[in-house]
Amino acid sequence: MEGDILNGHRPRSFAIWTIGCQMNKADSERLASALSQLGLEETDDFRQADVIVLNSCVVRQSAEEKVVGTLGLVKPLKERRPGRIIALMGCMVGPKPDTLRQRFPYVDVFARPQEYRPILDLVGRRLGVNWEGCLSSFIPLRPGVSAFIPVIHGCDRMCTFCIIPYRRGREVSRPLEEVVQEARLLAQKGVREVVLLGQIVDRYGHDLPGRPDLADLLEAVHRVPGIERIRFLTSHPADMTDRIIQAVARLEKVCKHINIPVQAGDDEVLARMRRGYTRDDYLRLIERIRSAIPDVALSTDVIVGFCGETEAQFRRTLDLLAEVRFDKVHIAPYSPRPGTIASRRMEDDVPPEEKRRRVQEAERLQERIAGEINARYLGKTVEVLVDGRERGKWRGRTTTDKLVFFPDGERDYMGKLVEVRITRASPWALQGEPVGAGR
Ligand code: SF4
Repeated sequence: MEGDILNGHRPRSFAIWTIGCQMNKADSERLASALSQLGLEETDDFRQADVIVLNSCVVRQSAEEKVVGTLGLVKPLKERRPGRIIALMGCMVGPKPDTLRQRFPYVDVFARPQEYRPILDLVGRRLGVNWEGCLSSFIPLRPGVSAFIPVIHGCDRMCTFCIIPYRRGREVSRPLEEVVQEARLLAQKGVREVVLLGQIVDRYGHDLPGRPDLADLLEAVHRVPGIERIRFLTSHPADMTDRIIQAVARLEKVCKHINIPVQAGDDEVLARMRRGYTRDDYLRLIERIRSAIPDVALSTDVIVGFCGETEAQFRRTLDLLAEVRFDKVHIAPYSPRPGTIASRRMEDDVPPEEKRRRVQEAERLQERIAGEINARYLGKTVEVLVDGRERGKWRGRTTTDKLVFFPDGERDYMGKLVEVRITRASPWALQGEPVGAGR
């Protein structure tokens, strides 16, 4: 075994590669903050980094394959410089990483989601410091315009297709005051938008004393000076309460956008997925949301080709998409995840080419719907929070989560709320002209 020596010198730099959901991105941001506070410099150049962290996702087979591919790319880097630290964290790491250790012997340390300790312990040992004494907090040192705040970890539901409860564990909410304090610190660092994250964010607080809920949390973060926008992800239809819907409707800074995965439009498929609601329950929920927040944008996730899904059942999903008319739909073919209930007890009987066809058909339908919805923005003026520049244009989002681009003029719009008059629309984005200097 190579010792705690980094070719005679201490680790000076780190690089983090991240794949997967916003929770993973938030974990990576937090780990980066901790490593920076220990004096390491962040680099994009993996060949130079003394510490390489891969933050993994196994929700879909394609994601897992990318992680395995990236681990293969990292192996020669480790061979070239055995003293560098290779860390694998995230959902690929289960409670017992023994199999992973055998498969990837060149990985020095494995860490489960949100568990930075094993990585920091090893880096701390190499540096000869007790990292716990060196860190003030895990919040990003130089956050952007928008920052993630994980508010509830884990998931207690057991959808039959999903690996997350096995990897991220039981639900644990962070105390409300801790989240608010983090929002305050982020605002002091110039953050204007916070995104409250949870696998099921609308279950926030049920495990805390006094049982505050997401509505209470939104209300409390709403009072933080400097925070202009608040988003939350991801909601579960069975946990979305009227109190939360009313809070979104009432609180001006809370973005009028709800991501609420339906997964399928057929009751038998929903029951096999153990989603805990029927098609009608879901449609009634959408009605309640739309009557409380008429201008709300809705997005959803759909899995096609789940075990036993017939053509007729797939058509029920298409009907639901046509009926609800979501602003955005993320459509994925079912891929069995080892260890889940579906992979153990159900047959993955929809052929891959049929799954691909269903994905394409659903995407074509959604493209048409999103194009029609976005076309309604033409000629309107919308408020955009600018979060970057892309190919010579400013880029930002509306409260309804529409991506908007406008020309890069003389002014610096970064981090500003800018009025933009929409002149072009596509299913994926809007283009426009700024009106005024923004605030
Ligand atoms: S609600 Fe279902 S799909 Fe979402 S994380 Fe939990 S088990 Fe997975």
